[in-house]
Amino acid sequence: MTYIAIHTSKTAARISTDSWTYNTTATRLGHSSKVHAIPHLRTVLTGSGPVGFLATFGAFVEAQSTDSTTFEDLLVALRDVLPECWATYPDDQKDVGAIVILVGWFAAESRYAAAAFSSFDGFQGEELDDFFVIPSPAGMKISDVELARIDSYVADDRLLRDDSPLTADEKAAKRATAAANRDVLIGWTDSPTAPTTTAGWIDLAESARLFRSRRCTVGSSLKVLVGGDLWLTTINSDGIATKKIHAFNDSGAEFAEVMAGGLHPQVQLGPCRCGSGKTYLECCLVPELDEPCPCESGKTLRQCCAVDAARQVVPAS
Ligand SMILES: [Zn+2]
Ligand SMILES: [Zn+2]
Repeated sequence: MTYIAIHTSKTAARISTDSWTYNTTATRLGHSSKVHAIPHLRTVLTGSGPVGFLATFGAFVEAQSTDSTTFEDLLVALRDVLPECWATYPDDQKDVGAIVILVGWFAAESRYAAAAFSSFDGFQGEELDDFFVIPSPAGMKISDVELARIDSYVADDRLLRDDSPLTADEKAAKRATAAANRDVLIGWTDSPTAPTTTAGWIDLAESARLFRSRRCTVGSSLKVLVGGDLWLTTINSDGIATKKIHAFNDSGAEFAEVMAGGLHPQVQLGPCRCGSGKTYLECCLVPELDEPCPCESGKTLRQCCAVDAARQVVPAS
């Protein structure tokens, strides 16, 4: 998951994205621009999913381009190719799902428009509202795209896979948590207007980060890590321009707040939450080390997402 906010109008489209990429246990953080600009089509491709998935479609959309290619043509082409391409991805890279969003000039209606295709509903494709934000900041009505993602956690097909290391009770507990979180999200009804200033775009992103990264429990479907840099891409008749408008405070107490309860190396090597004075890795994480890794890789935590020190500090018996 990633942070994406989009506003489309008759004169311009604006796309704001963060830069963080991460694996399911947030033990590995990276950066991606998340925006693929195709200036000659006045189109931008964005979204979230396995690293490399979006880049594939940036190249695909570009390759579709002819003198007469329209935004609508691109949507049809994407709808055809996405399910096929997703099917070729290994299952263990699909857990986060994929959302592909095309933003461009909708000539038939003389306006900019955005459409999303998501693995959570089989890539049916749907036009987005003029103002779209994922993940929704607290209180703001969540999009159908995000609701489909939450619903997939509640149904949790991936947990039914034969190779899932979880017990039936653990699966049931995960589903119950996902259902409770869904109730929280669908209770949000505000429909704020899109920002009109750079400061407004920054406030929106910080608000999403506050409620969806900093004040949420790791492992809940509410938690989405928003961080790194914040970018604002503008499409208008002059072309496409992207600029960095903000850097999140990914250090000190705020970073600790975002990562708290998870398995980021800083958390594993930080003071244990039980107050023993030892590191989490040497203390309350020890009984988990030979259990299945929470990232559902099928390996044990020790073999997978535990920091290297685990192998030295706590040798396998
Ligand atoms: Zn402890
Ligand atoms: Zn792992």
